[in-house]
Parts: sequence; C-alpha cells; structure tokens
Amino acid sequence: TGGTRGIGYAIVKKYLENGAKVVLFGSRAETVEKALTSLKAENPDWPVEGAHPDLTNAEEMAKAIQDIQDQYGRIDILVNNAGITKDGLLMKMSEEDFDSVIDINLKGAFHTIRHMSRYFLKQRSGKIINISSVSGILGNAGQANYSASKAGVIGLTKSTARELASRGIQVNAIAPGFIETDMTDAMQAEAKERMTDAIPLKRIGKPEEIADLAVFLASAKSDYITGQVIAADGGMSI
Ligand code: NAD
Repeated sequence: TGGTRGIGYAIVKKYLENGAKVVLFGSRAETVEKALTSLKAENPDWPVEGAHPDLTNAEEMAKAIQDIQDQYGRIDILVNNAGITKDGLLMKMSEEDFDSVIDINLKGAFHTIRHMSRYFLKQRSGKIINISSVSGILGNAGQANYSASKAGVIGLTKSTARELASRGIQVNAIAPGFIETDMTDAMQAEAKERMTDAIPLKRIGKPEEIADLAVFLASAKSDYITGQVIAADGGMSI
C-alpha cells in the first residue's frame, strides 16, 4: 500500500529488482499511473500492476485482494506502508484529524492483514511487513494522532505475529526515523536542521535504506524473525 512514491515506491522497486511480481496500491488512479509509468521507464519487463482501492473501506480492500489472488494464484508478501500525517498540538487537534490518521495508518493495515491472512493461512506461509515509525516508539510533540497510529501498528504487528506464527507466517514492523520523502520535504529548513542534529548518525535516511530492510524481511533470510520492530533511524531511538 502507498507504493506510488517515497518509501513505498522504493520498496516496490527493490522488490522488482529482486524478482518479485508486485501490485502496488495508491490512493488515486493518476498517482498509480504515474508510478507505473516511471517503473516501466526503468524496465519495461518488470511485472508490476497497480490499483487504487479505498484503504479505509473493508469491502473495497477485500475485493482488491481477491482480484490479486484470482489473477496470480497466490500472494506471498504484504507491505502495509500507506500513511499520512496531520500534525498539530493535541489541544488544537480536531477529532477529524485524529480519526483520519488512525483510519489510514492503523485501520488500513488492519483491513489488509485481515483479508490477506486468510490466504496466508491456507498456504501456510506469508510475510507481513508493517511500516511504523520512530514516533510510535518515542512519541513526538505535535504528532499525537500519528504517534498513536504508529504505536498501534506495533501492537497490531505483535498480536498478529503471535496469532499467525504457528502457520509459518511472519509479521514484523519497520520503524523508520527521519527519511527523505515528500512527507518530510514539507518541513521547514530550520526544523529539518534541528531534527538532523538529533540523529546520532547526523544525516537523514534514504527511502532505499528502508527498502533494503523490507527486502530482508520479505526473504527467507528472516524466517526466524517475527513480532519484531526494527528501527532504521540512524540511532534516533537508542
Ligand atoms: P509519502 O507521503 O511520500 O507517501 C505516502 C504514501 O501513502 C503515498 O504513496 C500515498 O499515495 C499513500 N497514501 C496516503 N494516503 C492514502 C490512502 N488514503 N490510500 C492509499 N494510499 C495512501 O510518505 P513516506 O515518507 O514515503 O511514508 C511511507 C510510510 O513510512 C508511511 O507509513 C509513513 O508514516 C512512514 N514513515 C515515514 C517517515 C519519513 O520520515 N518519511 C518516517 C517514519 C515513518
């Protein structure tokens, strides 16, 4: 989910480079088309398709996942990456801004896991990778809604990992720190500088660095790892 740009796009690309067939989900037809065009420009033979089901709509998600299953016969990897921010101090945060962030960041992952785990259970294998955030571990002033959603993703990861472990399914979360994408581009230069200074490795991360971890967690090399939250944050959460 959210494979049209940023970290999601980098994951899609690395998965394709590593031989996977990928169906990326985005929020709008145009952004999905744009991402597919740019991937096809890199390699016209890459087996990649896209769809734009509403992440917050259980029926639409169920249908989109069923369509993939029907077309490909199996699904091996699910990456829950779509996410939004609607930052603001708690005192001034509207209920709508709280709900929409929870709906997309947390409930969106719940829908995909719930629908997809049915297939994973039948085939007795599957890898689920949820993109959380360092904000879900440490909290962050001005991000009560976002931090709550990302901490929720951690709880969701650990509980589903326990539920699905006996059937050979691994569920893990990645907690990126400060990564260079459109999400962080929106920040002011001064705030960015302050953030960078607080990172022990003294630099912002690249989407590809998160994608490398997502490749590892989707591969057989991580078969003995489940229910973990792996931070890729330049040391922010030490
Ligand atoms: P981004 O804004 O560049 O991309 C977000 C993606 O989510 C886009 O592809 C967008 O289409 C998709 N999306 C948003 N709302 C959606 C909806 N309603 N339905 C379907 N798709 C939707 O963000 P990013 O920086 O690449 O972030 C990707 C993930 O990583 C998010 O979950 C984010 O919270 C997390 N993260 C990012 C950072 C960072 O510093 N960039 C840090 C920690 C965690």
